[in-house]
Amino acid sequence: MKPQTLTIALSKGRIFKETVPLLKAAGIEPLDDPETSRKLILDTNHEQVKLVIIRATDVPTYVQYGAADLGVAGKDVLMEHGGQGLFEMLDLKIANCRLMVAGFADRPLPRERLRVATKFVNCARHYFAAQGRQVDLIKLYGSMELAPLVGLADCIVDLVDTGNTLKANGLEPLEHMADISSRLVVNRASMTLKYPRIEKLLAQMAQAVEHRTRT
Ligand code: AMP
Repeated sequence: MKPQTLTIALSKGRIFKETVPLLKAAGIEPLDDPETSRKLILDTNHEQVKLVIIRATDVPTYVQYGAADLGVAGKDVLMEHGGQGLFEMLDLKIANCRLMVAGFADRPLPRERLRVATKFVNCARHYFAAQGRQVDLIKLYGSMELAPLVGLADCIVDLVDTGNTLKANGLEPLEHMADISSRLVVNRASMTLKYPRIEKLLAQMAQAVEHRTRT
């Protein structure tokens, strides 16, 4: 790719759909839809702006190593990654939810050796360590809600939006860990080398976020 190409990493689905209008406000429109195209690098109406379509959890890594200049990732994904080499520039206020500890409302959590099932092991480790609580972390890749039901864990750490998934499985949110939304991140090198272009893009997207939250 040419040195002045601006590459933006996005994941398919909700983040893509909700980021497209913000990019459009900055004059950038993808020429393909990742839901129907198998392309992993999408052209846009600007020859020098490309979108790379990757897994949400890979976005911070692509941006960190400079494979993408910018990326959109959930705060949960950024906290789990650690944020090394990344500047978090803008809260896009999309894909809002909460990172919570959840379990059975009528069973107090054990004070010692709490068994916590989650895919957010780093977030959970930091959260419980900050409170001096000793935990055994059990890494899962999905369907966390099942773990307490089958006795694998005392509680889970997971994203909660409406709370319906927890409720459907007899669980309740117990502790609020963090408010989550998607953030625009930029790597340090791109920030320096492509500052004028990135600054303009950020300003236009920030204005679109502001406009959307007001209307
Ligand atoms: P809900 O039943 O509305 O509370 O949604 C909970 C389920 O949706 C859980 O499986 C979460 O992992 C997932 N979820 C909720 N919000 C988000 C989000 N913003 N990003 C990714 N997954 C989410």
